[in-house]
Order: sequence, then C-alpha cells, then structure tokens
Amino acid sequence: MQPFDYVRVREISAALAEADSSADYLAGGTTQLDLMKDGVLRPRRLIDITRLPLHGIEERQDTLFVGALATMEELAADPVVGRRLPFVREALLRSASVQLRNMATIGGNLLQRTRCRYFRDPKVHACNKRGRGTGCAAITGTHRSHAVLGTSEHCIATHASDVAVALIALDAVVHITGAQGDRDVPLTGFYRTPGDTPDIENDLRPGELITAVEVPLLPPGARSDYLKVRDRMSFEFALASAAAAVVLGDDDVIRWVRVGLGGVATVPWRAVEAEAVLTGSRAGIEVFTNAARAALAGAEPHPQNAFKVELAQRTLVRSLQTITGVSA
Ligand SMILES: Cc1cc2nc3c(=O)[nH]c(=O)nc-3n(C[C@H](O)[C@H](O)[C@H](O)COP(=O)(O)OP(=O)(O)OC[C@H]3O[C@@H](n4cnc5c(N)ncnc54)[C@H](O)[C@@H]3O)c2cc1C
Ligand code: SF4
Repeated sequence: MQPFDYVRVREISAALAEADSSADYLAGGTTQLDLMKDGVLRPRRLIDITRLPLHGIEERQDTLFVGALATMEELAADPVVGRRLPFVREALLRSASVQLRNMATIGGNLLQRTRCRYFRDPKVHACNKRGRGTGCAAITGTHRSHAVLGTSEHCIATHASDVAVALIALDAVVHITGAQGDRDVPLTGFYRTPGDTPDIENDLRPGELITAVEVPLLPPGARSDYLKVRDRMSFEFALASAAAAVVLGDDDVIRWVRVGLGGVATVPWRAVEAEAVLTGSRAGIEVFTNAARAALAGAEPHPQNAFKVELAQRTLVRSLQTITGVSA
C-alpha cells in the first residue's frame, strides 16, 4: 500500500478544509481500505470522518432522516424502518455480513465501488473506470456478473449496492455539503451511467461530503418486498434483485407502485417503465409479466450475461407476486 497521512476530524468544516485532490474520506473503510490495499486507490491523505456528528436516525413527519455515518446494521435495527420501510430492512439484511454491516455506513454504501474484477486489479491495464481511454477488459473477457441496463461501449460494470435499489424506488434524497455550500440531490439524479466517462460515477464534486439521506416513508397500506437472487444464499452480491412497493385497492387495482432493480444495471435502477404498466392495472400475472418485460426492454446483454434479462424479469414478477398474493 502506498504510504499516506491519516487525519481524524471532529467537525464538518475541518473535514472540508482537509479535503484536497490528493485526499479521500474514510468512513467504515470496508471499500476504501480494500481498494487501497489492492493499489486501486492511492490517496496521499485519508480523512477519518467517523467522529463527525452524522450518526443519527430520526423520523421527521413522513420521512426518515438518516445520518451518513449511521451503520447498515443500525439502520436495519431501527424500529421505524421495520414498521414503515420493511423492504429497506430486507435489502440491508441481505447485504454483506453482520460484521461488515456493523462497520459499513450508509454514505459509504451509496458510494461503494463496483466489484468488476478488472477494476479491482491494477495489473489489468484496460479499465476505463480506472483510466479513461484504456479500454474495457470485461467486454472482451469475463462478464457474467456485469450489467445489461445503462451500459455503454466503455463500461458494463454493475453497481453493487442493495439498499440503494430500495432507496431509489422510494425517491430518497441525498444531502451534500461542500466548500460551496449545501445542496440536496434526488438519488434518481445522483448516479451517472458510464457513457464515455465511466470514471465519473455520481454527482458528488471534489471534496464534497454526504451528510445524510432523507427517505420518504411508505404510504399507509403499502406492502413491499426486496428479492435478491445470487449464486449462494449469503455473503454474495446480487445477480439480479428487485425492490418493489405497492398500494393495492380493494378491487385489486394497483393505486401506487415503486420499482427498483439491482445487480443488472450500471447504477441502482429505477424501473419507471414497469411502474407505468402497473399503475392503474388490476394485479395479475399477465400485467406483472408485461411490466417486467417493459423494465428490461432496453437491455443490451453480452454473451455471458444474456441470462440476466430473463432472470431480472422473473425476479420482479416473483417479488410482485409476493407483495400482492397473486399466484402463478
Ligand atoms: C466482502 C464484502 C461483501 C459485501 N457485500 C455487499 C452486499 O451484498 N450488498 C451491498 O450493498 N454491499 C456489500 N458490500 C459493500 C459494503 O456494503 C460497502 O463496502 C460499505 O457499505 C461501504 O461503507 P463504508 O462506510 O465502509 O465506506 P468506506 O469504505 O469508508 O468508503 C467508501 C467510499 O465512500 C467515500 N465516503 C464514505 N462516506 C462518505 C461520505 N459521508 N461522504 C463522502 N464520501 C464518503 C469514501 O471516501 C470511499 O470512497 C460488501 C463489502 C464487502 C467487503
Ligand atoms: S466493466 Fe467498467 S470497471 Fe470493468 S473493466 Fe470494463 S471499464 Fe473497467
């Protein structure tokens, strides 16, 4: 690992003052330190933000205000999450391991880097995400776990977060502070698909800190589900996942619905096309299938990951069945 200076800050102003182009922030460290050990990230200075006053979780009217340094395990254990955001809890509890969740923070989770093996191996030259213009080893190499939605000819890496899939379905908002002041960005506009600049993954400007995530609570009567399909039942990233929430009328007509997809896209994916098919329709297997087809209509698979198109469709259909009780 390249030598670096370590500085611990206790005030946000001090964190921002320390942040220059050669520095990275350190929260739980479960992504940052791995990438430094592997030589992928080489900051000259690490700014430990874990003592900043950004740990709280607080219900505010119809939203849950989650400090960026709340851990994944703390959020999963929060009673409001259990009662009003059960699919957020499911997404958290299906992530990583309990040891990791005790360290890993919500801010860090949203900013975690891809698990693409070529990105994480600096001995591989061709990775546009590490070095713009170097090529993409995954497209010509192994890409079974890679994305089919939101890809480009320059990068097909998936975003690995589980909880971000539920949060994007909920229209969560990211609170950010930086040298130029505070701003709020909807999660739906926070992430950037790779295009021809895969190294730019989100809307965060140099030195900016995520301070909190504001999560709208599910409306009364909503039912929700997070379904994660993976190669083994625990401690594994998603091949495909679906986060769905539905308000069903007495006549079984879908009054309100939100859908997110994970494991299949370069960013946590909001499936607005599926929502359009479902809204106002009577719950049933045919409408669920049509919605799932609409969600994946823009998929651009590669030879080894073509199976993900059908897998993601089936994952979403199953999730909607679980929520509504509709059988096959
Ligand atoms: C073995 C393993 C399995 C995993 N499995 C899963 C899984 O199944 N599902 C899943 O969703 N995740 C999984 N993860 C990822 C894990 O959830 C993330 O590593 C973790 O959430 C990152 O949080 P952290 O606090 O440790 O971030 P750090 O590693 O400290 O930071 C991550 C990045 O975010 C930046 N950062 C952190 N906080 C802030 C902030 N407030 N403002 C600005 N920048 C910030 C850091 O500079 C760094 O670039 C896994 C990780 C490992 C190692
Ligand atoms: S998929 Fe993206 S991260 Fe992976 S090798 Fe290609 S450019 Fe790099």
